[in-house]
Amino acid sequence: MTMEKKLSQLLNKPIYDCTDLELYNALLQIVQDMAREKETEDGKKKIYYISAEFLIGKLLSNNMINLGIYDEVKELLAKNGKDLCHIEELEQEPSLGNGGLGRLAACFLDSIATLGYTGAGIGLNYHLGLFKQEFDQRLQKETKNPWIAEKSWLTKTDVTYPVKFKDFTLQARMYEIAVTGYHNRTNKLHLFDVDTVDENIVGDGISFDKNDIAHNLTLFLYPDDSDEEGRKLRIYQQYFMVSAAAQMILDECIAKGSNLYDLNEYAVIQINDTHPTMVIPELIRLLVLKGLSVDDSIEVVKKTCAYTNHTILAEALEKWPVHYLKEVVPQLMPIIEILDDKVRRQYADESVAIIDRYDVVHMAHIDIHYGFSVNGVAALHTDILKNSELNNFYRLYPEKFNNKTNGITFRRWLLHCNPELTQAITGWIGNGFKKDAMELERLMESLDKEEVLTRLLQIKQDNKHAVAEYLKETQGLTLNENSIFDIQVKRLHEYKRQQMNALYVIYKYLEIKKGNLPETPITVIFGAKAAPAYTIAKDIIHLILCLQEIVNNDPEVSPYLNVVMVENYNVTLAEKLIPACDISEQISLASKEASGTGNMKFMLNGAVTLGTEDGANVEIHELVGDDNIYIFGASSNEVIDHYTNEDYIARDYYENDPVIHEIVDFITGPEMLAVGCDVNLYRLKNELVNKDWFMTFLDFKDYTAKKEQAFADYTDRMAWAKKMLVNISKAGYFSSDRTIEEYNRVVWKLN
Ligand SMILES: *Cc1c(COP(=O)(O)O)cnc(C)c1O
Repeated sequence: MTMEKKLSQLLNKPIYDCTDLELYNALLQIVQDMAREKETEDGKKKIYYISAEFLIGKLLSNNMINLGIYDEVKELLAKNGKDLCHIEELEQEPSLGNGGLGRLAACFLDSIATLGYTGAGIGLNYHLGLFKQEFDQRLQKETKNPWIAEKSWLTKTDVTYPVKFKDFTLQARMYEIAVTGYHNRTNKLHLFDVDTVDENIVGDGISFDKNDIAHNLTLFLYPDDSDEEGRKLRIYQQYFMVSAAAQMILDECIAKGSNLYDLNEYAVIQINDTHPTMVIPELIRLLVLKGLSVDDSIEVVKKTCAYTNHTILAEALEKWPVHYLKEVVPQLMPIIEILDDKVRRQYADESVAIIDRYDVVHMAHIDIHYGFSVNGVAALHTDILKNSELNNFYRLYPEKFNNKTNGITFRRWLLHCNPELTQAITGWIGNGFKKDAMELERLMESLDKEEVLTRLLQIKQDNKHAVAEYLKETQGLTLNENSIFDIQVKRLHEYKRQQMNALYVIYKYLEIKKGNLPETPITVIFGAKAAPAYTIAKDIIHLILCLQEIVNNDPEVSPYLNVVMVENYNVTLAEKLIPACDISEQISLASKEASGTGNMKFMLNGAVTLGTEDGANVEIHELVGDDNIYIFGASSNEVIDHYTNEDYIARDYYENDPVIHEIVDFITGPEMLAVGCDVNLYRLKNELVNKDWFMTFLDFKDYTAKKEQAFADYTDRMAWAKKMLVNISKAGYFSSDRTIEEYNRVVWKLN
């Protein structure tokens, strides 16, 4: 049946008579039916990707692209006076993730299905997701983000598993979202939920009774863990997720014929960061209940679980006090004690113990001892794990450690978000790159073709226009389309150093006031949510919003410099901002950003990176060469040495560098205090001058110099377009298809 017939049959009227909502619901159903037809009988071994987050983004367009019906539907709608973009606006973005880690999980699911692998994602169905960010008086305010609509991609199933806690048992109900592969099979994302959860217990903002587990369990992703109830709630969530997951996995494997001793021939479990770690003791517990000996259970689980590390920030490595675990999941403690005991018998080294002398359980240590693979997410990150952060473990198990440089799905981050560029590339090198991203290299042959370079510049201009319109309409923001779009969008964290970018804005503001005008106007664009309890991060947002007010309202400055902070940065906004970007800010303190994936999305869309030698920036630099990236700042080794020697003194920079002194004083100067809150601004200035744990001042001078160089180079439009083209053509390596193929070849070994 033609798409036209399908649609009009479902709707019972001609397309031109339908509302956008009717069309959205009809398309939702058609796509779900088509996706279901591509579910296949499973192969023997299956990859289970367990993650607390799946930042999947809107699904309609992506699923239509993957099913091969996008162009047909778009044209059909257009022929009937309907705009697919407006229909897309009706879809709520699922709020099941936080940042890069969750987006990675989503890209991986796309690639697993696209490569035809038997696999599934397993997570939780948070009703109110991560909070929604609103700006009020130039401060971040958190509100709930209900995203589940009456008709959505979520399918409720009859499958439930009991999950036992100390004093009560909850039923975990399975929901599913179809994951369509690009011209390939459909896999599933399984999301567990509890029927009794109650959105009405949420009071002001995102506050709720953290002790009311039956009603709050799946309300929010990352509930505030600044108090004990919050931390225990996270353990409730984690155990709920992995207990249901473990039961589901064992059921599936038994149904396929596993005798459980051969579990690893049927299942491989990828533990995404430490949040799902309890799946290890839980599986052991369940196997023992099914009659295996403790030792056999441990051996089987060891061959089945693999762990991905995402961070070297000590505060982000999860540790749970034994007494919390005893209060929430007492049945796991005897098993964790056995796991600890075995480690202690084998290794005298206290630093690799699972339960430390303060009675705290180190979740990552469970993963490393009782998984068969440990991977970092970029070459530099894995090196740091091997040589410093996890060196004590690397010396015990060198064979377990491996690198899997992150990637992104080009379906979403090129085909969907930048159709004009996709079409142009197709015209230049054909369709092959859509299946084999490395074919983008063939664009290098066009480096001297003027018409190619001109077209690239035109596409960038068009994308700037599109996002400017969108932000005007949705957020009331005004962007100068003829300015350089310098963009930093990512979670707000001191190590990512949005504060350094903000200091540059102050620097430039003062320069313009002195009469040093930039040749091309600049728009510095930010987007970032700060964790609700992360005070300094919220102060940095306040700083940026105050600068936006001051800079954009100063008639001497605003023709040359603008600051824009978009509200509630999410996947939908990323898809609109990234194609419009000229300069991609990837300025984390070297050694601190495990990989980054934003950097890859920007590169693929023809932005030039301004960044430190950190995470995957190192690999981007190697691929594009010195001339097509702006690298600055201290190296990771220098930074690690500063931490070891404790010899970075922020105050010395403040006292001795007059430029830094003037900029930092501006934070609490009269212009700022006129629009901002003195508590926040003084606290931030104080933090910078007296602590600056992420060494903003260390790299500030070099950052400013490289940024000025990039702005100057931008004025030679043809030379800049060449840099853009080199970045696009070298981006193939960062396809998540490449990453997933490596996971399979080295770790999963699916048959
Ligand atoms: C890709 C992405 C991220 C990760 O960005 P980084 O710069 O790698 O931290 C975060 N949020 C959203 C919405 C994304 O799409």
